[in-house]
Amino acid sequence: MQPILSISKLTKSYATGFQALKGIDLDVREGEIFALLGPNGAGKTTMISIACGLVRATSGRVTVGGHDIAGAYRAARGMVGLVPQELTTDAFETVWDTVTFSRGLFGKRRDPAHIEKVLRDLSLWEKKDSQLRQLSGGMKRRVLIAKALSHEPRLLFLDEPTAGVDVELRRDMWRLVDGLRRDGVTIVLTTHYIEEAEEMADRVGVIRGGELILVEEKAALMQKLGRKRLVLDLA
Ligand code: ATP
Repeated sequence: MQPILSISKLTKSYATGFQALKGIDLDVREGEIFALLGPNGAGKTTMISIACGLVRATSGRVTVGGHDIAGAYRAARGMVGLVPQELTTDAFETVWDTVTFSRGLFGKRRDPAHIEKVLRDLSLWEKKDSQLRQLSGGMKRRVLIAKALSHEPRLLFLDEPTAGVDVELRRDMWRLVDGLRRDGVTIVLTTHYIEEAEEMADRVGVIRGGELILVEEKAALMQKLGRKRLVLDLA
């Protein structure tokens, strides 16, 4: 089966001359949950920013559902949802308008029933008329996820979804990922935490210094390295 995400020989050098990615090859299978583990500065955000078409690669190729993210941006981007680390939304918009507008950006027809489902799934329904500035940090994170799901993506990138969140949101996040998996959505998540990969992923990739140093089925990886060893390797 064709992978939903295919990355080949991907490199990225920033204007400073710093090489953030040094030749990444990775295929992500439809329906799987793939965890990309790595320490600060390893290149995780750079990789997913390129895969979403937000940042231009220096060389190499990324396809989503067979569409080149650089050459066939609209087709590829429509299949992708991104939950970034930082809130990137107008503070004065309401939750409802933010999520509805996000769907419109992808050229999808209005579908209030879908928006309602997304907001209910994320426990945001009661807050639908609140402005974003009135929400807590955890609620703002939920809005980011709702935005990313507004246009029914087949591939969802979660960039450090649980960094700095409380226990309740972390548990909700895991539940949400599980539900999305059952709906057939492919998920790529980045994390510093081995526990997160252990809890959620089917396969795990480890990125360090801009290189993907290993990709394994989670069960095989845990057996091979053991929990302690992997944590040490990432330090
Ligand atoms: P973190 O876990 O801290 O988010 P990361 O693995 O996501 O890290 P990236 O954000 O992809 O790492 O950054 C990889 C490297 O590229 C870092 O050294 C970072 O400083 C550098 N970098 C990122 N964006 C730029 C930029 N616009 N210009 C120059 N260097 C950059």
